[in-house]
Amino acid sequence: MRVQQSLAREGLGLLVFDGYRPWYVTRMFWDATPEHQHHFVGDPVKGSRHNRGCAVDLTLVDLRSGKPLPMPSLYDEFTERAYPAYAGGSAQERANRDHLRAAMEREGFTVYEFEWWHFDYRDWQSWPIGNLRFEDIERR
Ligand SMILES: [Zn+2]
Repeated sequence: MRVQQSLAREGLGLLVFDGYRPWYVTRMFWDATPEHQHHFVGDPVKGSRHNRGCAVDLTLVDLRSGKPLPMPSLYDEFTERAYPAYAGGSAQERANRDHLRAAMEREGFTVYEFEWWHFDYRDWQSWPIGNLRFEDIERR
């Protein structure tokens, strides 16, 4: 919320793709992903940071148009263009990506080394791995 508020002063907002994810979904992603691309998905043996409710996948949007800003890769693209350190793409795409990263880092998030859109919140290690479905969370 603090990142969103700070970006709003520049006419920008956040578009959230994913947040908390039950462990069984991480297992499904792992099984459906070829082994050479496993660094793009969470290892179910360790549990994903999304399983702990401490990770978020997001991008920047222009608040006036509601459109996402151009980035060096698409969301969930399993190529090196997804790396936050990727030096290709246009200067504007890289500037947008780096702007998102700086805004998130100011509030205690760190970017994942293989995905510009994935951020972990500090202390994520201290949270348990969750396997509750959203329907079950609502009932508590
Ligand atoms: Zn993620």
